[in-house]
Amino acid sequence: MQVSVDRDRCCSSGMCVMNAPAVFDQDDRDSLVRLRQTTVLPEQFDDVRLAAELCPGQAITVTEDGTAQPGA
Ligand code: SF4
Repeated sequence: MQVSVDRDRCCSSGMCVMNAPAVFDQDDRDSLVRLRQTTVLPEQFDDVRLAAELCPGQAITVTEDGTAQPGA
C-alpha cells in the first residue's frame, strides 16, 4: 500500500494524525498534513484506510495493488 496527500485539499483538521500518527503529521507552520512515510506497513493498513475515509477534505489517496482510491 502507498499513500499520498494533496495539501491543497487539506483543511488542517488533524483527523489523520489521530487515526494514524505513525504515517501522518501536521506542519508546524501551517498545520497542513505532512507524510512521515509513503509506504504503509501491513499493520498500518486499517488505520490509514480509516484516516482516508474520515478525512474531511478527501485529501488522502490510498493506492492498493496499483489502484488509487481517493478518500477510501
Ligand atoms: S484528515 Fe485530511 S484535512 Fe485533516 S489534516 Fe489530515 S489530510 Fe488534512
